[in-house]
Amino acid sequence: MSDRLYQEEKQKAVNVLNDLKIKLYNKGFFPATSGNLSYKLHDDPLIFAVTTSGKDKGTVTHEDVIFVDKDGKPVEKTKMKPSAETLIHSYIYQKTDAGCVIHVHTPANNFISYVYFEDGKVKIKDLEMIKALDIWKENAEIEVPIVDNFFDLKKLAEESGKAINPDVPAVLIKTHGIYCWGRDEFEAKRHVEAFEFMFELMKNLIIFKGSKDIW
Ligand SMILES: [Zn+2]
Repeated sequence: MSDRLYQEEKQKAVNVLNDLKIKLYNKGFFPATSGNLSYKLHDDPLIFAVTTSGKDKGTVTHEDVIFVDKDGKPVEKTKMKPSAETLIHSYIYQKTDAGCVIHVHTPANNFISYVYFEDGKVKIKDLEMIKALDIWKENAEIEVPIVDNFFDLKKLAEESGKAINPDVPAVLIKTHGIYCWGRDEFEAKRHVEAFEFMFELMKNLIIFKGSKDIW
């Protein structure tokens, strides 16, 4: 890639992430500087843009995005620090056709990951919103993997990578949050909105029934 094209690609990635960040922030998906986002520039070698650590995602500054390689290391000189969870993004890019990855902490995804952790996965069925994941089968049923919230982020990245089910664009981390992806930023955003809608509804069904056996 020529330098000019590379600069253009980088600027596009920054614009995409800043735009997506504000939209998701306004939905309440990034409380207390939590969560992160990334956007792939190219595959071989893997380079992607990722949000930096510890920033308020309700504002845009020129220090919000950093470019890293598959080991989560910055590809150019910078004082900024990539998000601590950057390696998880890298595993997702290596194991799926993702072009954009979104990670959010919400009360609903924390609740669902807590309730179903022992099962290693959570089943979702009978909900119209499954179609937002581009699954159009009659009586569609999916299972989202749930991994433990390992303190060691390398281990967390490895276990999340191992748990990926190619048919389902998300992994839950117990009482932490969700990693969700799509081939581009539109698809990733649609997917995370769909999951959060379904988890919120399921949380209410569990409370209503007094049981995690809701289907
Ligand atoms: Zn997190």
